[in-house]
Amino acid sequence: MSEKNYSFFGAVERSFEKAAKFTKWERGVLEQIKECNAVYQMRFPIKRDNGNIEVIEAYRVQHSQHKTPCKGGIRFAAEVNQDEVMALAALITYKCAIVNVPFGGGKGGIRINPRKYSAYELEKITRRYTAELIKKNFIGPGTDVPAPDYGTGEREMAWILDTYSAMHPGEIDAAGCVTGKPVSQGGVRGRREATGLGVFFGLREICNFPDVMKKLDMPVGVEGKTVVVQGLGNVGYHTAKFFQDAGAKIVGLAEYEGAINCKDGLDVDNVFNHRKTTGSILNFAGATNCDTTQEALEMNCDILIPAALENVIDAENAPRVKAKLIGEAANGPLTPEADEIFSKRGIVVVPDMYLNAGGVTVSYFEWLKNLSHVRYGRMEKRFNENMNTHILGQIEGLTGKKVSDTEKNYILHGADEVDLVYSGLEETMVTATHEIMNEWKNNPEIPDMRTAAYVVAINKVATTYAELGIFP
Ligand code: NAD
Repeated sequence: MSEKNYSFFGAVERSFEKAAKFTKWERGVLEQIKECNAVYQMRFPIKRDNGNIEVIEAYRVQHSQHKTPCKGGIRFAAEVNQDEVMALAALITYKCAIVNVPFGGGKGGIRINPRKYSAYELEKITRRYTAELIKKNFIGPGTDVPAPDYGTGEREMAWILDTYSAMHPGEIDAAGCVTGKPVSQGGVRGRREATGLGVFFGLREICNFPDVMKKLDMPVGVEGKTVVVQGLGNVGYHTAKFFQDAGAKIVGLAEYEGAINCKDGLDVDNVFNHRKTTGSILNFAGATNCDTTQEALEMNCDILIPAALENVIDAENAPRVKAKLIGEAANGPLTPEADEIFSKRGIVVVPDMYLNAGGVTVSYFEWLKNLSHVRYGRMEKRFNENMNTHILGQIEGLTGKKVSDTEKNYILHGADEVDLVYSGLEETMVTATHEIMNEWKNNPEIPDMRTAAYVVAINKVATTYAELGIFP
């Protein structure tokens, strides 16, 4: 199919249909789940710094309102188009369902290259876009809650919050109208590393299934496993770091300028700092250079984690991949052809839709924090510490033994916000992993974990329609 005719939304629909076969829902319900409920395409003017007026094209799509609010990032990119925003919104509906985040899928996009605009121009675009969303009731803590995506971050989320608050004076839950905010403006601690940590929790859980590990001819657990990560950005860096901390060996790391390999293991922070000072991942002491980033994908390892960009593994290089387990940390790193090859080769692919759901999960925690108007841990931290001190004192008194200072620090510690966010994320990823694996095991006809994840998502969304009924 030519690139011009390619439809990303169409591809999502095809994956949906592949999974829908394994569900019992009637056609009408499946159609309702698949379609985008509301697509808002807008045009608005902004005045550039040079005085010229420019018309901006932008979108907000609400794919599903089976749960509200809708949730999903806003991207600023020159390639933004309606088909892409619709596809991404649909994927978020399924992603949220899989990880039991009670939101419908949404997505926003503004068709600009943010590097071509000054900070003041970007602020005007963000604020005007927010105002357009407000006019049509496409934003609000109970209706639709945007978040960062490509080209946007904490700065833009703070502008959205400020615009929304200015136009809703006195709305007590206004901070919940957007997530990914700076911590000082109602953001939550742990959001930055959330996706990488979620990737780690998800893959660790897979490595804890004795039958899966037996099939892959690997021992149970993460410790000692060899790992290669492509991309040392937000997701890749944190994923690699959490694997290293858990005792895995990072034998390969890749960036766009090339890759490095060391069978004795690489220290992630040292490599990160080396790249920061020299401008390249290459020539790291003790490691072997590879000229292209693609070579990393074919290195000897147990777990391969593409965490940079889409379509890096296709029909051409998939037969040469040596990993037994592939974790899609990036969005869409495998083409459907690569997927089929891995399925035939018995390589387990842990799909992006579920594996990189840590970001949206912690966004949900941020939204809950905003609605409760209190930092996680603020009410119970000291109480728990005092109680733990008391219990430990009793144990020491009764046994006549003293606990070491290191153990004491561990036992007495009351949970901070970041501890609770990590714990909530761990619970979320572990539960979701088991739900998907159970679906897969209970239906041996399901060809791969991606299809099993879609089946889980479809069942959950359809159950909502079945239980609530169709209005009117
Ligand atoms: P990022 O920009 O922080 O990091 C991407 C890294 O990949 C950068 O260091 C970049 O230099 C590197 N890179 C670019 N081209 C490369 C190439 N050809 N080969 C090797 N490395 C290359 O982005 P991120 O937030 O880490 O996102 C990475 C992927 O994860 C994307 O697919 C994104 O959609 C997905 N994702 C991110 C989040 C999140 O919370 N950040 C959530 C879900 C999914």
